Amino acid sequence: MFGIDEEEVKSINEALAGNPRRNDRRICVCGHSFSRHDLETNVCNPVSFECACKRKHPILEVKNTRYFIARSIGSGEGHALVRGYMASKDAIKDFDQSVKWIAELKCENNKCGKPTKLYPVRTDEYGYRLYDSDDDRGINAILCEDCRAVYWDSDEAQAVRRANIKAVN
Ligand SMILES: [Zn+2]
Ligand SMILES: [Zn+2]
Ligand SMILES: [Zn+2]
Repeated sequence: MFGIDEEEVKSINEALAGNPRRNDRRICVCGHSFSRHDLETNVCNPVSFECACKRKHPILEVKNTRYFIARSIGSGEGHALVRGYMASKDAIKDFDQSVKWIAELKCENNKCGKPTKLYPVRTDEYGYRLYDSDDDRGINAILCEDCRAVYWDSDEAQAVRRANIKAVN
């Protein structure tokens, strides 16, 4: 029907199937395609900028990763994962129905672990929330409502930091 060599198509398909970069439809918690992470240099390079992703933690799988290219300017509404998700929803019909969650939606504060909705938060290395800002920094984590209300300069966070410094010295 197509006037093409079916064997040739088969071998192209097989070659593509063997190429994980092309087939990888996973999205990292940083909000970018997992395949854009260089596992050797530790850099996530979604398009024209580098993302400071430190986790390389795939969280969902989508049909089309191309809209996950936003830059994070903070947690929640300003986070690249949320912005990419909303851009995909606008552009792709039935996007919501086609998304597969590959991570458990529970608070990633290991003292908590409560089930929670997806709310990516930029945190310091102790898991405490950073204030929103344009510079791309911090660690991306999914935190519940209670845990994400505690900022890095809170008494609790300061105490944890001090205790840790003492333990190291
Ligand atoms: Zn990432
Ligand atoms: Zn990234
Ligand atoms: Zn929590």
